[in-house]
Amino acid sequence: MTSLTVRPWMQVVFLCLCLVFAYWVLQTSVLYFFSNDLIRNRDIALAEGKIEKEQLKKELAYYKGRAEQSEKLALDIQQAHKDILDKVDILVSEEIKNAEGSFEKVEKLLKDNGAPISSLLKKVKKEENVGGPFIPDMTSALLTFPYAQKLTSVYDKVDYLENLITLSARMPLGYPISETRISAAFGSRKDPFTGKRARHEGIDIAASLKTPIYATAPGIVKRAFTNGAYGKFIEIEHDAGFMTRYAHLSEIHVKKGDAIQAGDKIGLTGNTGRSTGPHLHYEILIGKKPVNPYRFLRTQRGKKDV
Ligand SMILES: [Zn+2]
Repeated sequence: MTSLTVRPWMQVVFLCLCLVFAYWVLQTSVLYFFSNDLIRNRDIALAEGKIEKEQLKKELAYYKGRAEQSEKLALDIQQAHKDILDKVDILVSEEIKNAEGSFEKVEKLLKDNGAPISSLLKKVKKEENVGGPFIPDMTSALLTFPYAQKLTSVYDKVDYLENLITLSARMPLGYPISETRISAAFGSRKDPFTGKRARHEGIDIAASLKTPIYATAPGIVKRAFTNGAYGKFIEIEHDAGFMTRYAHLSEIHVKKGDAIQAGDKIGLTGNTGRSTGPHLHYEILIGKKPVNPYRFLRTQRGKKDV
C-alpha cells in the first residue's frame, strides 16, 4: 500500500497558505465592520448638516421678513412725522399771523419810538433766557432725518410765535379802567390851569371818583406816593423797557417793590394833584420816553381788533 506522504517543504507551504488565508479573512472582516461604521457616521453627519442648513434657511427667511417689516415701519414713521410737521407748520403759521395782527395798531408807533417789534422780541428773549431757535447738533442723527430742514424751520416758527405771545403778555395793552371815554388826548394841548399850550404826556380817561384802576401789564412798582402835580401816583416798570404811570388817584393799593400781574387792582381814581375833576391820567413810556397810549389802549391782548 502506497501511503500518501507529504513532503516537509509542502507542509510548510500549506501552513503558510493557511496563515495568509486566515490573515485575509481577518482583515476583510475588520474592514467590513469598520467601514460600515464610517459610512453610517458619514450619513448621520450629512443628515445633520442638511437639517442645519434647513434651519439656517428658515432663520434667514424669518430675519429677512423682520428686516422688511422694520423698514416698512420706519418709512411709515417718517411719513407720519412729515404729516405731523406739515400740520404743525400750518397751525403755527396761522397763529403767527394772528399774533402779528395783534401788534398791527402799535407797530408803527413802536417803530417811530425806536422800539420796533424785532428789537422788543430780542429783549423779551434775553430776559427769558430760554428757548432760542432750534439748531441741530452737527453730529446729530437728526441731520440724516429726511425732513431735518422742515423740522428746523417749524422749530424756528414755534420759537418766534412763543416770543410774540410773551411780548404780547408783557406789553401794556388795553385799558387800565372799565371806562373808555378819553377826556384829554396825548400831545400838545391848552393847559386847563394856565390856558397856554403845553405838552400832555399821557391820556386822561374820564371816570367817576373811586373807580378801580388795574395794571395793564405785569411788572414791579417803582414809585407809589403823592408826587406834586401828579397827586397820588403809581409808576410800574415792565419788561422790554416799558413803563406805565397812573396819576390823580384817591387811593393807592400797592407799594414800591410789589410784583404786579396784568389786571391787578392797584388803586382808585381821584382828583389829587393838578387835576380839575376825577379822572385817570395814564402814561406809557418806552425807554423812559412818553408815547401816545391811545393805540395801546385800543389793542387787546390776543385779539386782533377791538
Ligand atoms: Zn392828564
